[in-house]
Amino acid sequence: MSSNALDQFLNENLEDLRSKGLYNEIDVVESANGPVIKIGGKELINLSSNNYLGLATDELLKEVAINAINEWGVGAGAVRTINGTLDIHTQLEKTLAKFKGTEAAIAYQSGFNCNMAAISAVMDKNDAILSDELNHASIIDGCRLSKAKIIRVNHSDMDDLRKKAKEAKESGLYNKIMVITDGVFSMDGDIANLPGIIEIAEEFDLITYVDDAHGSGVTGKGAGTVKHFGLADKVDFQIGTLSKAIGVVGGYVAGKKNLIDWLKVRSRPFLFSTAVTPADAVAATKAIEILMSSTELNDRLWENGNYLKNGLKQLGFNIGESETPITPCIIGEEKTTQLFSKRLYEEGVYAKSIVFPTVPQGTGRVRNMPTAAHTKEMLDQAISIYEKVGKEMGLI
Ligand SMILES: *Cc1c(COP(=O)(O)O)cnc(C)c1O
Repeated sequence: MSSNALDQFLNENLEDLRSKGLYNEIDVVESANGPVIKIGGKELINLSSNNYLGLATDELLKEVAINAINEWGVGAGAVRTINGTLDIHTQLEKTLAKFKGTEAAIAYQSGFNCNMAAISAVMDKNDAILSDELNHASIIDGCRLSKAKIIRVNHSDMDDLRKKAKEAKESGLYNKIMVITDGVFSMDGDIANLPGIIEIAEEFDLITYVDDAHGSGVTGKGAGTVKHFGLADKVDFQIGTLSKAIGVVGGYVAGKKNLIDWLKVRSRPFLFSTAVTPADAVAATKAIEILMSSTELNDRLWENGNYLKNGLKQLGFNIGESETPITPCIIGEEKTTQLFSKRLYEEGVYAKSIVFPTVPQGTGRVRNMPTAAHTKEMLDQAISIYEKVGKEMGLI
């Protein structure tokens, strides 16, 4: 017997979404998530993953993960504070601190969890958070969880940030004020104005928090957006994920030792949820070592990104103002965007449409995520499919 109220809620809301065409049917990928994937028995050039460096299917990482299972088993066995901190978890954290150039780092089960963990460990109802309006959902949720006053700031608008920081400071209402931003904004591929943000933070004594999930492995020759701007010692919280460029799963916060010590005793996802598996910890550590030892994959990522951007631009598509390999192809109207993505799929390119409310109305786009693992032939094939579909639909 299930609750009538629940049944009614689910039926009404699912029906509402389906009738508006907003219910997302999830595609099942029948192969590893590489540069070419199989869906419904059909091979597609994959321009939708966050696997920037192709590390998700890297042979060496697979090997170290398998060895880790043989040595350490398939699970950590307990939360970190009981007895689930394996030597390989601390190795991962040491490697992360070295990677980010900070005194220390703490690893979590995901990037999403980092934002659940870190914000509310230091911010409370007597504090305020200045948050860019385009920040990731996990930042928004992490801010809400803290119960701090959330002050939305216009996207990358330094005048607005300064004005709101000044108001918050001069109001005398808050014990602490934090400014929080994505390092790279994933819908448009633009990079946060960290020098501008740091200048304002110094002026008003703001705590600085940068979630560089889309930047690490990508910007700053792979080191991330904070290092790209040479600001490693100016950012209090550096957040990253191990699931995008790093190719595995997990997340981390890097910063000063006393911050990390605090998170180890006060952040709830660390205290009450088991750590990533041995295979994950070892593979992520190795992936970061690969990243630190050579820029080869990063160079190829940018080369491929620029190649795809030029190809689409030359065809006459609007590819926006991305500063990273993320390549939006802006179509505009929502229905046309969805049809365009569907036609690309039918012709052999997997690039997802992103429409309102994820992006502003009338700026529907197909977002392309080229990776280091794509070959020129794959990209050429994708570009020629874009040309075919674009002409067929009268878009170019
Ligand atoms: C993807 C993303 C996350 C979530 O990372 P996961 O490790 O997949 O949970 C968090 N923050 C930002 C800015 C992201 O882009």
